[in-house]
Amino acid sequence: RTGRLRGLCLRHVSSTRQTSHTQRRFLNQFISRVQQNDQPALEQRQFRLAVKDNIATVSPNPEDETPLTTTCGSNFLANYRSPFEATIVTQLRSRGAVLVGKTNLDEFGMGSHSVHTPFGVVAQEHDEQQAVKHSAGGSSGGSAVSIATGEADIALGTDTGGSVRLPAAYTGVVGFKPSYGMISRYGVVPYANSLDTVGILAKEVRPITELILGSSGETKGLWAEHDPLDPTSLSPGARRRCASQRDCYNHTGTLPKDPYPLKGLKFGLPLEYNITELSPSIRAAWSAAAAKLQSLGARLVPVSLPSTRHALSAYYVIAPAEASSNLAKYDGIRYGTRFTSPGESDAAIPEGSESEAEGILYARARAAGFGDEVKRRILLGAYTLSSAAMDNYFLKAQKVRRLVRRDFNRVFALPNPLLDKPESFELSELPETVGLEDKWGPTEVDFLLCPTAPTTAPKLEEVLSEEEKDPVSAYMNDVFTVPASLAGLPAISVPMKVQGDQEGTGMAGLQLIGQYWDDARLLAVAQAVS
Ligand code: GLN
Repeated sequence: RTGRLRGLCLRHVSSTRQTSHTQRRFLNQFISRVQQNDQPALEQRQFRLAVKDNIATVSPNPEDETPLTTTCGSNFLANYRSPFEATIVTQLRSRGAVLVGKTNLDEFGMGSHSVHTPFGVVAQEHDEQQAVKHSAGGSSGGSAVSIATGEADIALGTDTGGSVRLPAAYTGVVGFKPSYGMISRYGVVPYANSLDTVGILAKEVRPITELILGSSGETKGLWAEHDPLDPTSLSPGARRRCASQRDCYNHTGTLPKDPYPLKGLKFGLPLEYNITELSPSIRAAWSAAAAKLQSLGARLVPVSLPSTRHALSAYYVIAPAEASSNLAKYDGIRYGTRFTSPGESDAAIPEGSESEAEGILYARARAAGFGDEVKRRILLGAYTLSSAAMDNYFLKAQKVRRLVRRDFNRVFALPNPLLDKPESFELSELPETVGLEDKWGPTEVDFLLCPTAPTTAPKLEEVLSEEEKDPVSAYMNDVFTVPASLAGLPAISVPMKVQGDQEGTGMAGLQLIGQYWDDARLLAVAQAVS
């Protein structure tokens, strides 16, 4: 299907300003070479990079005087210019990236359709005549559309609970969320620190593999780059230790065999992902993908991840709790627009103690600065962290998170390199509703294979009217992506065609999830199946 996609990028940096005629000719040559499937390695050439607008950028060119804004899709930061650049942007520049634009998102990354933003909703449009617009997914919807429309070769997104994988699935591109701690988060505006991961989108898997693993002896793969500025960036020692327990990593820039042999690999089909809400056309495409893997020599095994059913609720407790704490700094004084003109502020704030006046100023700034969805998350987070609710919500959610992690560790053949010894299982620790010893199923799979989302991209009109009626219903779209986020595991969404999706886009995502730091093999396998 070759429909036209149209999306809304926040700002396009005019290409003439930053790429000379010769450079552009080179890019064009590159594009035609891609078509001939004879491209030079990504890091030996320039490539166009789009960056989600919650990742700090200073300017498209070091010589440019005006830094770009980093708005996070929020009124609060509409004029915010970061004094520094995110490490990942600098790393990509040193590998040939030319910044072509910042892309729109759900405010601070909170949402699944890129509609929670004061800068105009992101959309994909396949049929101009009928003018039907579909959701581009969220929250990295702008980044996904920049790839789908061919405006960028590589786009950066952030994936806290699926925000790279879901838009990739909806728009028919590849979206990769690496292991937590692999790519630096320095300069990435935090939403929920324990989950936030920088992710990469592209049309194909290969350029992502080149960036992560490095494709020549000169530039290291991103997997090997520790960032001392990000306290959650895995240390060089831990990186070496993790990589030594995994295939496919090396320092010579030799990429894994392409196509990667699937023979003998075991793929787990998680039973709990076959939910009633799963659209029949996606279920059929999932089965077809599994059958294709089998025909290529892979083995398929059903596996059970019993805690999956609680993962979504746990995520929507943990993420807002962390968000409410992160967003406390936007008070109109330390961060964010004040929303009062200098002359007005004294008169508008009634007499009283200084702290009272400050309180009024904060309240006014936060009321005007944040959108409804962000306010909803702050209220939810502040509630679940309050002393009365903490035990029932926040602590329970943390327990579920541990169980989700254990489920994964139990099914994967490779051990989790972050654990000193294998975890023991206490049945009593499972949530009350699960008494499923017999469902635990066989262990020892290499990867998990499942859809990225239960449906194809819904129509934008439907999304917007549903937002009015029941804003929480959009949370359901993340049901298949949050488990890997809670466990910090690498996961990738590759395009999967679906049949019989009359009203929709005919595109969905096939998700592969791997054990921690098994990113190299995950990418190699994703390339082989896509
Ligand atoms: N849709 C999810 C949320 O709103 C995921 C967002 C993300 O990954 N940034 O929290």
